[in-house]
Amino acid sequence: MREATITSMEAIEAAARHAALDRAVGLSATDYGSEPSIPCAPSEHAGVGAVLRHRLHLPADVRLGTYEDLNHPLFPGAQHFRATRIQLSQGRRAYFFIGTYETPGRLTFSLIAPCPDCGAPVPSVTINSQADFGDWLMGREGTTEAPSFRTSPVHRRDCSLVSG
Ligand SMILES: [Zn+2]
Repeated sequence: MREATITSMEAIEAAARHAALDRAVGLSATDYGSEPSIPCAPSEHAGVGAVLRHRLHLPADVRLGTYEDLNHPLFPGAQHFRATRIQLSQGRRAYFFIGTYETPGRLTFSLIAPCPDCGAPVPSVTINSQADFGDWLMGREGTTEAPSFRTSPVHRRDCSLVSG
């Protein structure tokens, strides 16, 4: 445990690439224990942020901002409940995720990134582990399309990738 050292975004990314390469050669990740309990968290948003911190193995000094995401539903078909938006920022750089329940009781995290067709910031790939994040950073195959990638209302109207 390092003390009084601010973890840089570069260090976070390097750790994720390591995890992805380890997974690719069959090394299993260290057991980091069970996920934090959302009902025990100070708020639903804070609890969702804590689960993302756990899955990405983020050090305690890494800041996570959590907000209500106005664009995406919390679960498929939800009318009122909105996804949680999580901002992972360190220094001047930031990544954004949304947390949704695609299956009951199991949080899915999607990374927000520019749509390859229209350029709008949409949920692009599913990132449920540090290795998933590393795979995405390295542009490796095997990342999974985010559940709401093709249905996101954030795409521009003339985007060719939107379904429905
Ligand atoms: Zn698009």
